[in-house]
Amino acid sequence: MTTRDDTRIVALIERAERETPFCDCGEPMAAVATDRQIWLNCTAHQNHPGGTVRRFLAALASAGHTRRLLVDPV
Ligand SMILES: [Zn+2]
Repeated sequence: MTTRDDTRIVALIERAERETPFCDCGEPMAAVATDRQIWLNCTAHQNHPGGTVRRFLAALASAGHTRRLLVDPV
């Protein structure tokens, strides 16, 4: 990943956090990197105890929380 890509991704994240600062549930949003993707996720679930990433994402999808894919380089 080049420096230019890094800068572009940081700008994308900053813009997304400005556009969507809060989840539908009222908790703040935060960018989260998974394997090769970066998501804007609700922070209400970030300390989910004992959950795998897959379960965490399934919980988000079913609970009405805001979630946006920011960077998908694949
Ligand atoms: Zn939420």
